[in-house]
Amino acid sequence: MAVKVCKFGGTSMADGNVIKNVKKIIESDAERKFIVVSAPGKRYSADKKVTDLLLNCYAEVSACGDIKAAFAPVRARFVSLVKELELDFDINSVLDETEKAIAAEKSEDFTASRGEYLNARIVAKVLGAKFIDAKDVIFFDGNGALDGEKSYKAVAEALKGVERAVFPGFYGTGADGKVKTFSRGGSDISGAIVARAVKASLYENWTDVSGFLACDPRLVDCPKRIKTISYKELRELSYMGANVLHADSIFPVRSANIPVKIKNTFRPEDDGTSILPISRYTPSGTVVTGVAGKKNFTVIFIEKSLMNSEVGFMGKVLAVLAKEGVSVEHVPSGIDTMSLVIESCALEGGKLDKILAGIKSQVKPDVLRVIENIALIATVGHGMSSSVGTSARLFGAIAGANINVKMIDQGSSEINIVVGVSNDDYEKCIKAIYKEFFN
Ligand code: ADP
Ligand code: ASP
Ligand code: MG
Repeated sequence: MAVKVCKFGGTSMADGNVIKNVKKIIESDAERKFIVVSAPGKRYSADKKVTDLLLNCYAEVSACGDIKAAFAPVRARFVSLVKELELDFDINSVLDETEKAIAAEKSEDFTASRGEYLNARIVAKVLGAKFIDAKDVIFFDGNGALDGEKSYKAVAEALKGVERAVFPGFYGTGADGKVKTFSRGGSDISGAIVARAVKASLYENWTDVSGFLACDPRLVDCPKRIKTISYKELRELSYMGANVLHADSIFPVRSANIPVKIKNTFRPEDDGTSILPISRYTPSGTVVTGVAGKKNFTVIFIEKSLMNSEVGFMGKVLAVLAKEGVSVEHVPSGIDTMSLVIESCALEGGKLDKILAGIKSQVKPDVLRVIENIALIATVGHGMSSSVGTSARLFGAIAGANINVKMIDQGSSEINIVVGVSNDDYEKCIKAIYKEFFN
């Protein structure tokens, strides 16, 4: 029988009623055998996600706070969840053990991971399924990257002869043997790892929207749903801020050609979005597939006469950044100019000053300028490379909204154009691009 792996996000786990609904979704399809869950998310807009409550708990305990008081909001969330589910489960004993373990481990990652751990134990009980702890099957290497081969093997081994199982998302075991988490939203990666390990026919990602939308629904009312999207387009859009799916979650599934489907837990009958390899992908028919963006970048602009003929110029500049452990998002360049686009948070703690000093001493630029508070916006689509006049339409729309473009980078993949605008123009710019290509 074909096997589907289903990942349920935080809002799909927010309270007992929603989890009862999730049980119905799972039981309505015998192929939905292996489940990955996030920690409970927000029940209403002013609510807090359990992961945020746990991070807060870690911060308070680290500041010599009392663990009982710091852990109390987390305890209350899980106690009420078990009550709403009318489960015969001694959650208080499990919470007591967890509270002790958090105090003993003194680790931010371990503390943050407990939302998924506790929730997966509860959901396993609800479904009468086996609980498999991610710490025993998902592994990171010495560089902190996923150890895919080791993880796929361990997941497959743990699932031998198992009818139905529930895994906590978001964490695994680091090279030092301690619990380590992915970055925020990382349960999507856990789901993809399980899908790859069992060679799933489909990886279903259940969330609170009816698919991948052409732009962030918090910026534009009811954006168009993308029916099918390629792994490549998805990677570009999710990396650039469309975090309905974690940007790294496609790697385990893409190499095995496993399709992904984004579905809405609250409207399971809706079609959702299919994410497919390019060979099985039907173009949407629109020039642009989607628009996404992120705020808070810094641009370091360098100008030097005859830069292009100075062998190794770019290498020397990039070596300065590598020495500080800072990665660069984009490097648009001209004959005598280059710009380094970097996430502003990576330059905190005096790193920007060290990098500027390093560039000055290594390449002696004529001009060295820093532009802060930049937002990057990516317009993405396979249709863009074959369609004449796309950039004219894009820049026309941005100019029409009276927005000054501070940087342009056309990705060499020809499926995206990235523009840098001031943080203050971010929302306006996304709206203008969406209107041009979708309204
Ligand atoms: P989950 O808790 O299920 O993992 P997330 O909050 O991580 O859910 O992702 C779903 C949210 O992503 C949506 O509620 C929506 O606000 C946001 N989002 C941002 N960009 C997009 C987009 N292009 N398409 C759909 N949702 C988007
Ligand atoms: N609970 C984690 C977070 O809030 C992981 C996830 O939901 O995917 O980021
Ligand atoms: Mg998510």
